Amino acid sequence: MRSKSQAPNGKASHNTEREFGGTLGAVCIPIFLPLTVLFLICASRSPDASLLQWPLPLPSLDQLWDPLAPVLLLGWIALHVLLYLLPVGKVSEGLVLKDGTCLKYPINGFHSLCISGALLMLLLMLEAPLGHVFELMLPLAACATGASFVLSLYLYVCSFWAPPHALALGGNTGNPLYDFFIGRELNPRIGHFDLKYFCELRPGLIGWVVINFAMLMQEVELRGSPSLAMILVNSFQLLYVADALWNEEAVLTTMDIVHDGFGFMLVFGDLTWVPFTYSLQAAYLVEHPQALSPLGVAAIITLNGIGYYIFRKSNSQKNQFRRNPTHPSVARLETIATATGKRLLVSGWWGLVRHPNYLGDLLMALAWSLPCGFSHLLPYFYVIYFTVLLIHREARDEKHCRAKYGLAWDTYCRRVPYRIVPYIY
Ligand code: NDP
Repeated sequence: MRSKSQAPNGKASHNTEREFGGTLGAVCIPIFLPLTVLFLICASRSPDASLLQWPLPLPSLDQLWDPLAPVLLLGWIALHVLLYLLPVGKVSEGLVLKDGTCLKYPINGFHSLCISGALLMLLLMLEAPLGHVFELMLPLAACATGASFVLSLYLYVCSFWAPPHALALGGNTGNPLYDFFIGRELNPRIGHFDLKYFCELRPGLIGWVVINFAMLMQEVELRGSPSLAMILVNSFQLLYVADALWNEEAVLTTMDIVHDGFGFMLVFGDLTWVPFTYSLQAAYLVEHPQALSPLGVAAIITLNGIGYYIFRKSNSQKNQFRRNPTHPSVARLETIATATGKRLLVSGWWGLVRHPNYLGDLLMALAWSLPCGFSHLLPYFYVIYFTVLLIHREARDEKHCRAKYGLAWDTYCRRVPYRIVPYIY
C-alpha cells in the first residue's frame, strides 16, 4: 500500500494533515513552552510557590546568563556523545523503514547512566559544589533552550538533502514554520550517529536525575541532611530513568522513533522540557521542606510500586509480543488478526485498557508529587501536564492505529472499551 506522503513517482508529496494546532501551534508553542520552563523554575523557588502569581515571576535577562552554564551544558552533551560512541553493549535493529532497510542502534544507554553516576560520585568525593546547580538552573535552562533552537534549525535545513523516503509522514506539509516545529526527517543521522535516538534517552533524561541529585546536595548544604521527601523523589525518578535505559531497545518501537519527525517539538522536549520541568519536585523541596508520616511514606512507596509494576509489565508484554509473538510469555494470549498481517492483543494487560502503560505511568507521576505535600499545586504540575499529554498522545496513537488497522482496530475498541483507566476513561 502506498503511504499518504508518497507520490506515484516515489517523490514525497505534501501531507496537509496538521497536529498540535497547526501553524498557530507551531508559532505559539516554541514561544510559550520556554517561557513556561522559566516561569516554573522561578515559581518553584519563590516563597509562596504559587502558579497564580501576577505579574508572572519571569527572570530578568541577567538572571538568564552565567558563563558556566554553556560550559556545563556543552560538556555534558559532549560526554554523552562520547559515551554513545563507546563500543559497549549490543547493537540492535530498528523497525523496517519505508525503503525496506533497518537502521542499527547502539544499546548502551544504561552504561552511560552508570558511568555518569560514577563520575558524579567522583565529583562528590572531590567535594565539588554540586548544589550550585540550583543557582544555575535558569541559565542552564536558557542555554538548553538556545541549543534546542539551534539543533532544530540544523535539522530543518539538513532535511532538504534527505531522500524522500527518509521524511516523516506528518512533517512534510511545505509550511516552513510547521515543518520546523514537527520535524521533516524521520531518523536524521551524522554518519552512524542517530540524533533523535541520542536525544530521546540520554542527555536530557540522565540530566534530569543529575539535576535531582544536585537539588538533594543543595538541601544537604542548607539543612545538613537530605529529607525523606527528597530521597523518595530522587529514588522514584532514578528508578524510572534507569528502567527506561535498561529497556532502551523498547524505544525503537515507540511513536517518537517510528512515526514522528525530529523537529523542535521533540528536540525541545528531550533537551529542555524533560530535565528542567520533570525535576521541579526536587527543586521545590529545596525551598519548601516537607515532613512525611511513616504511613504516608508507606502509601506513597506502594503507589509508586503498583504504578511501576503495571507500567513495566504492560510495556514488556507488548514489546515481547511485537518482537516474537511465539515467545512462551505471550503465546497463550488472545489476539485478533489485522489486514496488515500484524495481530493485536485483546487479553493480558492490553485487554484491560487500550493503554495500560499510560495508567502505570500516571500512578507513578502521582507518587512523585505526593512527597511534596498538599499545600501547593506546583509540585503537581507534572502529573497534571502528563495527564493532558497522555490523553492527547492516546488520541494520536488511536488515529494512527485506526488508519493502520481499520476494522480490526474497531473490533479491538469494542472488545476493550476503556482507553487508560478501567471503567472511567
Ligand atoms: P505505546 O508503547 O503505548 O505503543 C503504542 C503502539 O502499540 C500502537 O501504535 C500499536 O503499534 C501498538 N499497540 C497498541 N495496542 C496494541 C495491542 N492491543 N496489541 C499489540 N500492539 C498494540 O506508545 P508510546 O510511545 O506512547 O509509550 C511508550 C511508553 O513511554 C509508555 O509507557 C508511556 O507511558 C511512556 N511515555 C513517557 C513519556 C514521558 O515523558 N515520561 C512521554 C511519552 C510516553 P503497532 O501495532 O504498530 O506495534
